[in-house]
Amino acid sequence: MQDPSRWLPLASAQQPLYAGVDLGGTNIKAGLVDDLGRTIAFHTEPTHAARGPEDAAARMGRSVHTLCALAGIAIDDIARVGLGTPGPQDLPTGVIIRAGNLPGWDGFPIRDRVALHCGLPVTFANDANAAAYGEFWMGSAKEFSSLVLLTLGTGVGGGIIIGDLSIDGAHSHGSECGHIIVDSSETARKCPCGQPGHLEAYSSATSLKARAQESLQADPTSPLARAVAAGEELSPILIAREAAAGDSRALELILEAARWLGIGVVTLMHTIDPEAVVIGGAMTFGGEAAPVGKAFIDRVRDEVRARTFPTLAAKTVIRYASLGGDAGYIGAAGLARLAHRATS
Ligand SMILES: [Zn+2]
Repeated sequence: MQDPSRWLPLASAQQPLYAGVDLGGTNIKAGLVDDLGRTIAFHTEPTHAARGPEDAAARMGRSVHTLCALAGIAIDDIARVGLGTPGPQDLPTGVIIRAGNLPGWDGFPIRDRVALHCGLPVTFANDANAAAYGEFWMGSAKEFSSLVLLTLGTGVGGGIIIGDLSIDGAHSHGSECGHIIVDSSETARKCPCGQPGHLEAYSSATSLKARAQESLQADPTSPLARAVAAGEELSPILIAREAAAGDSRALELILEAARWLGIGVVTLMHTIDPEAVVIGGAMTFGGEAAPVGKAFIDRVRDEVRARTFPTLAAKTVIRYASLGGDAGYIGAAGLARLAHRATS
């Protein structure tokens, strides 16, 4: 929501107001959101993870004040702040346990430090659960009462929302859908978490790149291999571009990621039976409007159809997310709204 022309004028906002802060390994995104989930102001800046968590917590706190300045309100006009961070974390105590893309932040009491720096109460959430709540509240699952969100990026994030409840689990590890087992064979690929056979090892951007790298060695004459040899960076965007231009091996790599994703989705459907499964993140290949994006999600649907009960195959909606990078802060603000309503 970088474009101020898309912001809701304050005069049209429905009170109370909430701030959502989405902490990523690369960027911090903060948004001021009204009671109907509409964005009034937005601010983003680099995370600078190497400067450490206290520096980032101070800047996240300041970002809430920046939102106030952008909207022309006082800090006390915000009812509550929602904060989403990468996991694993301990939600009740507000601590990041060990975030893979935030080295050196282990054990940092991020919720309370951000609360101190912005001067407001903070609701703490897993970033993928916050994004799931964003899609549930304001995005592609708005008409449904339950969803599973899978975000395909550096890793595979997961969020489960059932009737306004984010499934956080007894130990803050609920909805870790990227780490469900899809391959129990001896040759299973290793997940970045260290365990073999997890979905993240097959359907993330990182794993797509790794499998593409292997295929380049097997077939150095493919258009993808030639593009890389000519100096282009191997990335999901490049793989999708070559797939769209007719490189069958590149398309095969993408559809293989979709096949594994479909296997994971079936397990989630058989556990939760959500109304919708929403696929988001960087690896959505231009969405359903783009040929590769359409082929990818159709492959997920085909795999699901082949492995689930007929009722679920017919009724469970599988679609792409619609909020993009805004889902995290909107969802974090939405979770703050739920907490505010529960306490007031
Ligand atoms: Zn894992």
